[in-house]
Amino acid sequence: MHETTFVMSPKQTIREAFIEASSFLTACGVTEPQRSAQLLLEHVLKLEGAAYYMALTEPFPAECREPWEQAVSRRGAGEPAQYITGEQEFYGIPFEVTPAVLIPRPETELLVEAVLTQAKRLWPQGAMPSGDANGGDGALRPLECADIGTGSGAIAVTLALQAPRWHVRASDISQGALQVAARNAAANGAQVAFLEGNLLEPFAGGWLDILVSNPPYIPAADIDGLQREVRDHEPRTALDGGTDGLGPYRLMMEQLPLLQAPPRLIGFELGQGQAQDVAELLRAAGHWDEIIIVPDLAGIERHVLGVSTRIR
Ligand code: GLN
Repeated sequence: MHETTFVMSPKQTIREAFIEASSFLTACGVTEPQRSAQLLLEHVLKLEGAAYYMALTEPFPAECREPWEQAVSRRGAGEPAQYITGEQEFYGIPFEVTPAVLIPRPETELLVEAVLTQAKRLWPQGAMPSGDANGGDGALRPLECADIGTGSGAIAVTLALQAPRWHVRASDISQGALQVAARNAAANGAQVAFLEGNLLEPFAGGWLDILVSNPPYIPAADIDGLQREVRDHEPRTALDGGTDGLGPYRLMMEQLPLLQAPPRLIGFELGQGQAQDVAELLRAAGHWDEIIIVPDLAGIERHVLGVSTRIR
């Protein structure tokens, strides 16, 4: 076993510090050691991009030694770099992340995009005629959108910023996650209302036009086999999808009658190999006449959407 506490050599340039940490992290079996080293170095030195590269030949600042050693040691022990820096970018905006929330993944941006695209198709005006089903008084009411299991708030905050005319609400069963999500909404100037509860429960009796969710979907028995960054550091509640990983999707389908009517647009993220099963769950529910499967950039069927083209 190699040493897991990182102690830096005396007197180094920033570039030398980067090289030293990269080889330490490589020895620790960290995935993408150089990327981690640079992320942590930028964080500790409070430098970004061009300023970081400009500083590479400068001496490593003495006052940064201790935070640097701590950050590299934590990463070497398997902690994700984002929990150490406290930040992850999503859809081009910064999100605070803590161990109370799942780190937002790039593929989830595609879910946000797919939902925006389908919503535009269903509601070209970005709103709904109010009043009764036959057209009402012609005034427009905002679309009601919910992000279920919002975690860091990545989906809800992004939707609220991209579609400012929507009413966006978000739920989570974790109070700790809701606090982080609320801070992310405030910091990014997004109007989102946060509700605590299990999946659709907080929306009981209400109306939703759009429902989005990236729920926990890992089969419980697979969690031990995940990479340590995820298994040991990301919240179990955000990962564990029950025996076959489909528990949360099934439960949401069962909870639909809690709403005044099924939402006309529904969009789920899911794990590898789950798309056909989730598509079947949506088909069986019978509320959506179009079921769309969206692959991610790796070609994995990653999102399933249900669209009801019939106006009710
Ligand atoms: N909705 C959040 C995200 O997409 C959290 C997902 C989760 O914790 N399962 O990042």
